[in-house]
Formats: sequence, structure tokens, C-alpha cells
Amino acid sequence: MIDLEELSIKDETLKYINESVKSGRLFHSYIIVGEEGMAKNEFARYFAKTLQCHDKNRKRCNECISCRQFESNNNPDIIRIKSKSKSIPVEDIRTQLNNDIQIKPYSNKYKIYIIDKADSMLESAQNALLKTIEEPPPYAIIILLVENMSNLLPTIISRSLILNLKSIDENKIKKYLIKNYQIPDYLAELASKFSGGNIGKAIKFATTDYFIKIKDETINFLKNINKIQLNQIIEFLNIISKDKDRIDDYLDIIILWYRDILIYKATENIDRIMFKDETQEIINCSELKSYISIDNIINSIETTKQRLKYNVNFDITLELMLLNLKEKCND
Ligand SMILES: [Zn+2]
Repeated sequence: MIDLEELSIKDETLKYINESVKSGRLFHSYIIVGEEGMAKNEFARYFAKTLQCHDKNRKRCNECISCRQFESNNNPDIIRIKSKSKSIPVEDIRTQLNNDIQIKPYSNKYKIYIIDKADSMLESAQNALLKTIEEPPPYAIIILLVENMSNLLPTIISRSLILNLKSIDENKIKKYLIKNYQIPDYLAELASKFSGGNIGKAIKFATTDYFIKIKDETINFLKNINKIQLNQIIEFLNIISKDKDRIDDYLDIIILWYRDILIYKATENIDRIMFKDETQEIINCSELKSYISIDNIINSIETTKQRLKYNVNFDITLELMLLNLKEKCND
């Protein structure tokens, strides 16, 4: 579980949550929007805990009965909708929400329902939920966690307050990783930059062998690109082809590699390089290449990334890109 307070983000969403709880100006339905890894569940938990805290300042005191129950996942007035199906069916909304919400809160001011992956609700489930959102009991608060807003009925969206999660500052992510996962400085920096402000993604990269593996494979390929043979390009292509779902990760690493070369060329400052354990290699490459050539390479990878989203032939598109990288390696 990601500790938002420890991340000490002066985050707009946290600020908004605290202010609206304090003022009591609340909506009955909230939609927390963010891609996977953006800590949607943690924001919902933070919101629910703040709402239910019995302390007069509502500061998540950790001492009142509500906070204590919350910490042991036993707060009877914070209900998570559980579903066994990939798409949440109408029965789950009926039995766990619509039928339950009429019963007053057990020992708290509010009764809070959290629906994770709410964008996977079937239309019938959404329609059932809509009935409750249209006429909720005064104590009811429903929090929907959503990745893709376009899967929600416009009528649900228009009755909810939308909280769009913003990316988190990379330096804060880096510090958080070092403190909580005891990983080396260099890896924490790489993971935080690579995550683009997505804390969940950063943790995954910093702590799974998978990321280290694809980084090493990719960098090894790029480092030797001027001397590798055609068959080695095919070998690398085979590695990526087996891992099609992760193609964006491979391409992002390639882009970051060339960005490092570009940044070093422009600034000659090694502190700004991401792949710090490859500093000498980056310096060498930056001396060999022109600005235009590096820029062209980065653009061609970005283009490949876009094209792969449109059902083009995967192997051919990538092979062309890799050949292009090799061809341009001495420009
Ligand atoms: Zn409390």
C-alpha cells in the first residue's frame, strides 16, 4: 500500500479532499480518474478515512474508533464492492450497494462505498447504480475508481465530482523508493524518471527483475549497435516479439537512452544523465552523433510507438526501426 502522506505530496486532490471534508460540502458521488499505478485505491482510502475520522479536525487521528477500525480493514461503514467477474454485473451492485445503502451507518457519519475498476461495470450495473446516485440517502458517499472515463454512462459522470489524479514529482518518487525499498540511488532515479510520475509504475520498475532484465537487454543492444550483425538484430527482435505486451517499455528505454545522449551533448553535465552506470558510453555516443541525427532517431522511435498501436505488422515495423537505428549509428 502506497503511503500518500509519506510521499508528502502537496497534491491538489489531497488538498481538495481535506478542504471539502472540513467544510462538509460534499457530493454523493466521486470519480477518481487515473491510469493503472496512480494510486487510485490509496486516494479513495485516504478520502474515506478522512471522512470517517471522529476527531473534530478530521485529521485521520489514528486514535478514534473509526481510524482504528479503518487500519484493521474493519470499518463497517466503508464498504468495498467485491466482484468475482471481470465486468461488474448488475447483481453485485444490487446486492452490495443498492440494497445495503438504505441501512443507516453503523457507527459513523457517512456510509462510503468504493467501487474499484468502476469502468468495468456492465451497462445494466451502471444503470442500477445511477438510480442510487439520483436519490441517495443523505449519509451516502460513493467513490468510483476509473481508468477510462469513456466507459461510464454520461448520466453517472454528470452527477459526480471528478478528481483527476496528477503525476507525482519525480524527485519525491525517487526519495520514496530509496526509503521504502532500500534500492540504490541510481535505480531509484531511473525508475522514477521512467515512471513519468506514476508511483505504482515506479515501484514496479524498481522492485521487479523484469524491468532490470529488459533494461539490460535493451542497453546491451544499443551499446553495441555499431558493431552488431544482422542476425543479432533478429535475435533482439525475437526477444521483444516474445514480450509484445511490454513493447512500450522497450521503446521507452530506447528513447530515454537517446535522450541521455542528446542531453549530454547539449549540457555536458553527467548529473542529468539517467543511465548513470553507462556514463562513458553515453559520452562516447554523444561525441559521435550530430544533434539532427539523435533527434531523427528519437522521432522515428516515437513514430514506431504510434504505428504499433494501429495493428501494423509488429515484426516488420520493429525490424525496420532497429535497422534504421543501426544505419544511423554513425551519423
Ligand atoms: Zn480518527
